[in-house]
Amino acid sequence: MTAFKPMPAFALGPDIPESGFVVTDLGGGTYGVTQGMVNTVFLETSNGVVLVDAPLNLGGDRLLAAIGSVTSKPVTHLIYSHVHADHIGAAHELDRKGLQIIAHETTGRFIQEARDSRRPLPNVTFSGPHKALDIDGTRFVLDYTGDWHVAGNLFIHVPERKLLTAIDSFTVKSPPFFRLVFAAHVPAYFKAMDQMLEYDVETVVTGHMALYGTLEDVATNRDYINDLRTSVTEAMRTVGLQEAAAAANVPANNKQAELKVWMEAVVARAAELMPSWEARLGGTDIFLTDNLNAVAWSVSID
Ligand SMILES: [Zn+2]
Repeated sequence: MTAFKPMPAFALGPDIPESGFVVTDLGGGTYGVTQGMVNTVFLETSNGVVLVDAPLNLGGDRLLAAIGSVTSKPVTHLIYSHVHADHIGAAHELDRKGLQIIAHETTGRFIQEARDSRRPLPNVTFSGPHKALDIDGTRFVLDYTGDWHVAGNLFIHVPERKLLTAIDSFTVKSPPFFRLVFAAHVPAYFKAMDQMLEYDVETVVTGHMALYGTLEDVATNRDYINDLRTSVTEAMRTVGLQEAAAAANVPANNKQAELKVWMEAVVARAAELMPSWEARLGGTDIFLTDNLNAVAWSVSID
């Protein structure tokens, strides 16, 4: 059995009370809501509430209770950050006549293909890389800059609230989940960190766990993934395919197994080459090999 280290205090958010959620005032009528594993954000406007996503494990009841704890205004707009059910799977519980559901057209197409009644189709979509909306006096800018997570993924920028929502971009105070949060296109994932750093914001909401970030956290994640790439590049330069195959006793006619053990050896070597990140990120042992594998294949074929 694999033993994992406990998470350091700096990487943990607040304890979750019996209600099952914590609302965090992010300033200026903007609130984060988390149930511990997944989070999102809602904004009070002059006329109602704009909610980003409806995470499955928060659920409609808890989302409405969270919103109700700060305002009696109704949810007028729901913006989908991207298609994934863990982030929008409770949307059907909030759907009602008059609710505007906004998404990139690619997200709408993916929902249609999924045939999942938990995810109502958006009724406002846009194509291309950019859409600015005025919602009851608050400006929202939706930017689709690349497939850093999944096609149709959005940066949701609210300039006057100094807020950037970038769901599934990274984990605040931890390395990315699994393979760079399952980045559809790894070079776009690397580029996304630089793109995020160009926004003039104070808060960055990234969709998982119980902490909200800043641009400093974006820069930290950028530095971390750059270290992954540096380590992988050096490992690939020094770990030979034939040597790795021989060391693993791979039969001479099994080319696929050669490739498999070579990549495992590259990842193992890269893990040894990684500098220590324990003072800056929590849970550095959890997804290290997954992330190195994703970066290594990208370095190899992208
Ligand atoms: Zn996702």
